[in-house]
Amino acid sequence: MTDNTPQRNPLTLLGLGAMGTALAHTWLTAGHPLTVWNRTAARSEPLAAHGARITATAAEAVAASDLVVLCLLDDASVEEALQGADLNGKDLVNLTTSTPGQARARAAWAQERGARFLDGGIMAIPPMIGVPESGGYVFYSGSRPLFETHEQVLAVPTGARYVGEDAGFAALQDVALLSAMTGMFAGLSHAFALVRKENIDLKEFAPLLVDWLTAMAPATHTTAEQLTSDDYTTGVASNLAMMVAGNTTLLRTAEEQGVSSELLLPFMDLMERRLKDGHGDESTTGLIELLSR
Ligand code: NDP
Repeated sequence: MTDNTPQRNPLTLLGLGAMGTALAHTWLTAGHPLTVWNRTAARSEPLAAHGARITATAAEAVAASDLVVLCLLDDASVEEALQGADLNGKDLVNLTTSTPGQARARAAWAQERGARFLDGGIMAIPPMIGVPESGGYVFYSGSRPLFETHEQVLAVPTGARYVGEDAGFAALQDVALLSAMTGMFAGLSHAFALVRKENIDLKEFAPLLVDWLTAMAPATHTTAEQLTSDDYTTGVASNLAMMVAGNTTLLRTAEEQGVSSELLLPFMDLMERRLKDGHGDESTTGLIELLSR
């Protein structure tokens, strides 16, 4: 072939679940020679039509490229898939969701086998992959030289944010964001429970909820500033004493509406404990101290 198409770096991808398949399509579309392996072979076959090379074993797929990306179910499946593969000299990028401890242990495990290691935490769902305007990205941490060598390839499916040499940092920040999301889902579940049986159009209520959560979200910056300065009383828009008093109304309303307060109570209990300790002039930042074990 004598065309002027620039040569794209080849890579291997292990794992063709919902996320792996979305990733694979972006690399193929961008012209990267891609070798794939999936435990259930039937999931690999459709990709052959798009130009992927399919291997029968994970070890063959690993042998095919210097850069090996994993997107499997969990850390145990990574261990299982890589059994028998020669990792010496490989650049392993593990996009499988892990805990920070698992990521650090996996980094040491890879290094013992002669591989460089980068852990990734995907802040996107499959429909956001290959759609730059979706705002998705992957946190990466671990080997900086590996990240710098492959940054352009890694940035093909979605944004790439390197967050440090500690292999656990990507997983830690991924899980921190997901944990905040869990709290948000708890809050909006309670809100819908309060209104859903009334003559209120839930589709009109939803944008009000979105706007309110969006308006409150910048309080996150105040929390970061207060934690950094160790001063939880500067920049307080609503103090703890007022908020705890307001909780009575929230709890009574739940009772009136026949809704359990179980999603609210753990946070409200912390608020009361911090207030009793004499911190009524703070924001909720002081509650974070009560969470540290
Ligand atoms: P799927 O459940 O769709 O796919 C799981 C993949 O793992 C399949 O390829 C499956 O192979 C493979 N697998 C499971 N167990 C083993 C094993 N023991 N040995 C070898 N392969 C195994 O999950 P997703 O693709 O959605 O997710 C993959 C990773 O991406 C997960 O860690 C997930 O947390 C993360 N992620 C997913 C997001 C999403 O919205 N989907 C969002 C952000 C992160 P087989 O086909 O044979 O079952």
